[in-house]
Parts: sequence; C-alpha cells; structure tokens
Amino acid sequence: MRTSPEPKRSLSERLTDGPVICAEGYLFELERRGYLQAGAYVPEVVIEHPELVAELHREFVHAGSDVVEAFTYYAHREKLRIVGRENDLERINRQALQIAKDVASEHGSLFAGNICNTNIYDPADAATHKAVRGMFEEQVGWATDANVDFIIGETFSYAAEALIALDVIKKAGKPAVITLAVHREPQTRDGWSVAEACKRMESAGSDVVGLNCIRGPRTMMPLLREIRAAVKGHVAALPVPYRTTDKEPTFQSLTDPNCSCLPGDRPFPVALDPFTCNRFEIAEFGSEAFALGARYLGVCCGAGPHHIRALAEALGRRPPASRYSADMSKHAFLGTDKTLRKVNQNYAPKL
Ligand SMILES: [Zn+2]
Repeated sequence: MRTSPEPKRSLSERLTDGPVICAEGYLFELERRGYLQAGAYVPEVVIEHPELVAELHREFVHAGSDVVEAFTYYAHREKLRIVGRENDLERINRQALQIAKDVASEHGSLFAGNICNTNIYDPADAATHKAVRGMFEEQVGWATDANVDFIIGETFSYAAEALIALDVIKKAGKPAVITLAVHREPQTRDGWSVAEACKRMESAGSDVVGLNCIRGPRTMMPLLREIRAAVKGHVAALPVPYRTTDKEPTFQSLTDPNCSCLPGDRPFPVALDPFTCNRFEIAEFGSEAFALGARYLGVCCGAGPHHIRALAEALGRRPPASRYSADMSKHAFLGTDKTLRKVNQNYAPKL
C-alpha cells in the first residue's frame, strides 16, 4: 500500500517542514528474533534471510519511520574479518542496499546508506586513519551505486573518525547525517565536548549532526541541549530505549541488582529487558527533543515498532500502525464502553 502519493521530497525539504523519523536498532531486533549473533553483531541475516530484513523495514515504515536505512551497519571489513566472511563484504552491502531500496520505493520513504565506527581507528596511528578511510570509501561507493538519498554515519565515539566518514560522504556528493555515540564520560574519545565535535562536523558540511545509541533518553537529553545551543543546522537525536541514569548513563554501564542469574557482571547486551523504556517514555522523549529543536528523531538499539509508532504519534503523526493504537475503552474489565458487562467492570479492582 502506498502511503505517500506525492513525489518524493528530499531529506532537507522534509526537515525544513518538520520532524523526520528514522527507525534504527536492526542488530538488536534481529538478534532477539534469533537471526543474528550478539557479540560479533554482523548482519549476516541480510544474505541468509533477506525477507526478514525487508519485513522489519516494512514494520518500521508501517509504524512511522520516514527513512529506510540499509542494514549495512557493521557490514564492514573489520567486522566481517571477525566472523571469517570478508569475501562476502560486497555481497552483503549490495544486498542490504537493494532490500532497503525496494522497501523505500514501496512507500515513498527516504532511502539511506549507512556506515559506522570501524573499531580500528586509533588516534595515535596514522596508518589506521588511512585504513578507516578505505573502509568508508568502499561502503559509500556501494551506497552511491545504489543511488541512496543520503548517507548516515553513526555511533562514532571518536569525532575524528566521524570527520573522515563525513569527508568520504561529501566527496561522494551525498547529504550526510553524522551522529556520535557518547559513553560514560560526556565527551568524545578525542576529548572534545559534544558541542565542539558537532560544531566541527557542521562546519565540515554535515547536513545533520547529533547523537545516537549508547545513552537512553534521560541521559542523552542534557547533551542534546548543549549541541542545540552550539550548532545552527539540524540536530539528530536517536537514543537507545533504556532507562539509563546519572550514575549509569549508558546501556553498557547499567547493572541489575535484581537479577542473580546473569552470566556476567552486566545486563548488556542481551539482558536489558527490565530496563526497556515503555512507549510513553519514548513519546515523552520525542516531544521534548522536538521542543528543544531536534528534528531528526529516532530510536536505536532495542527499538521495536511500538516505540517508533509512539514517537510518530508524539510528533502529531498518524502512521498506518496507529489504526491499532490502544483503546482501553473496549477492554472487558477496564473499559468504559456502554455495552460492556457490569459484572466484569465491577470486578476490575480485583484484577
Ligand atoms: Zn544503537
């Protein structure tokens, strides 16, 4: 079903008019569903079960995502080396791009390429800077061949690595959305404040700058305020949907004193369930971030379609999935519909 009969508008046109929603978190969701391994986190599912990747893209669009982001996250040379599949590098990238392109064209959605932290960047080793650039060039090249609308460079904890990604994207002539991942210390691993890092990325030509992943809504928001005050252009905010705290501000630092059966010392990454934000918390985040002036909004690792629908509705949208948004007036015990049976409604306090 087409949801957008008008000609497709660009990312910048959409951001000028209002918020743009980008659903992320494909690694976590496909891991939960049993098609991707935590730890390595390589999107092998793109080759092994392309239909499931397409379906997840569709679920997120149905829930309100304006962007279909090709699942090339961690489909880079270093990650494929770890699982012994470097020979599949190009095939995974091209296939992920084609899957996303097909779904985006079904719905008139924006079609985005994706690159991310390489895990080989070392500020003290110039040879790694060259290798990082080479890794970005090959992925950006495949994304450009697929004619993406823009390219997302994300989860960079070194701003200098993000600047290399941005340079490669701009040289390819594509709009760029660059987001940093901020760990416990409220700065990049280069030691720059997030405001300073985003300012530099904006000056270097990034169309959107901001934060994604690692921090939940509560601990990402103070950093977003600093970024909003420091840059002129569009700001991105895509937290993880977990209840991070001032003491444990990232999903990797969360501890769970209520569980004694964890195999390690932390619930990250596969036992974060009890910390998951409910849809109302994500809606609240969306309203606050938009009021702050962040227009490129989404949810990262841990997100489900229900989070994206809540975010879309908080921004005044009514995506196709809103047809099934909760209506408790029809509930047999807790509802208010006049035709419901009193015998059940009277029993409600005992539920
Ligand atoms: Zn993430």
